[in-house]
Amino acid sequence: MKLALIGFGQAGGKVVDQFLTYDGAIDGGFVESAIAVNTATTDLQGLEHVPRENRVLIGQARVNGHGVGADNELGAEIAEADVDEVQHAIDRIPTHEIDAFLVVAGMGGGTGSGGAPVLAKHLRRIYTQPVYGLGLLPATDEGGIYTLNAARSFRTFVREVDNLLVFDNDVWRSAGESVEGGYDRINREIVERFGLLFAAGEVSHGDDVAESVVDSSEIINTLSSGGISTIGYASETVETNSGGLLSSLTGDDDGFEEGSATNRMTSLVRKATLGRLTLPCDVGSADRGLVVATGPSEHLSRKGVERGRQWLEDETGSMEIRGGDYPIPDGDETGAIVLLSGVTDVPRIDQLQQVATEAKETTEQVKANAQDEFASLVDTGGELDALF
Ligand code: GDP
Repeated sequence: MKLALIGFGQAGGKVVDQFLTYDGAIDGGFVESAIAVNTATTDLQGLEHVPRENRVLIGQARVNGHGVGADNELGAEIAEADVDEVQHAIDRIPTHEIDAFLVVAGMGGGTGSGGAPVLAKHLRRIYTQPVYGLGLLPATDEGGIYTLNAARSFRTFVREVDNLLVFDNDVWRSAGESVEGGYDRINREIVERFGLLFAAGEVSHGDDVAESVVDSSEIINTLSSGGISTIGYASETVETNSGGLLSSLTGDDDGFEEGSATNRMTSLVRKATLGRLTLPCDVGSADRGLVVATGPSEHLSRKGVERGRQWLEDETGSMEIRGGDYPIPDGDETGAIVLLSGVTDVPRIDQLQQVATEAKETTEQVKANAQDEFASLVDTGGELDALF
């Protein structure tokens, strides 16, 4: 499916940059346009692939290109005041050719955390296409302010988008990795999962197109449950037909190969669902789902997808589980993407909200104490007068 990507804030911009790299690498064709919005000049300058004319600096009058710190209320105010500047950039893209908008932001910071929900609200008022969010949750050790920002942004963002796709940095970080190196790897994980899904709805592989290929309307229908979504992905290296040494040695054994392709696909669907999701949740709480088989056509077992789809129906108790293929002719991997939409049983979100509430109470208490202490520090018991 064709998307207009808008990265808000530093993390949003970096992930959109990475989406462009990935789209080019797999010849996916799902990025119609990419825009980056920020209050910090240096963050925009650090991008590599978003075209310069699509990098929008907002809030110059308030923060003069220096960013908003981690103040997401200021981020939201600036976005509100300067939304026309973002709109000017969007006016230059062919919006009639896109299937949806995707607004990407780190939810723990300031610019993206505050600005992304404001932009989503604006886009939904103007355009008929769905507006999706991709929200990145902070790691738990980033501290109270990031958690509080994320909890407040989450609450607002989910209300303003047609569906909020969530990725939890906490689940995906590795011990011993530098922050920057860690984000590079994490960003690749993000775009591989979401990118494959969106590319699947944008197939233009000539002869390989079969009836069972996923269509953008199936992705849109799955996401139309609203609420929040998560993705699972599993893959395996396979022997491709072009290097068909194995089949020529073992003779004509099509039945056996078909059976193993079916079994492989069924187990990939299970692995994708029960393995690490972008946002861990109780799979049974999903409202809708989509299973996409990816890889060389000869490995895309229809029966395997169908069995996987039925298994997911049983797991979720939902009658709205769709399934389809995304043929990648020259690939040497076959995989399964599982999109779970409208999930409601998500312990991480409960925990985020609880920690944020505690952080808010502690912050208010510390502020009140500091005010009292300062008052007693400067209080001279009426002995001394101020100058004026
Ligand atoms: P903003 O520029 O004010 O919107 O704030 P940032 O985007 O820099 O940071 C917000 C949050 O995003 C941080 O708390 C991190 O959790 C996360 N973050 C920052 N950079 C990256 C990145 O490159 N990738 C990912 N996945 N998360 C990031």
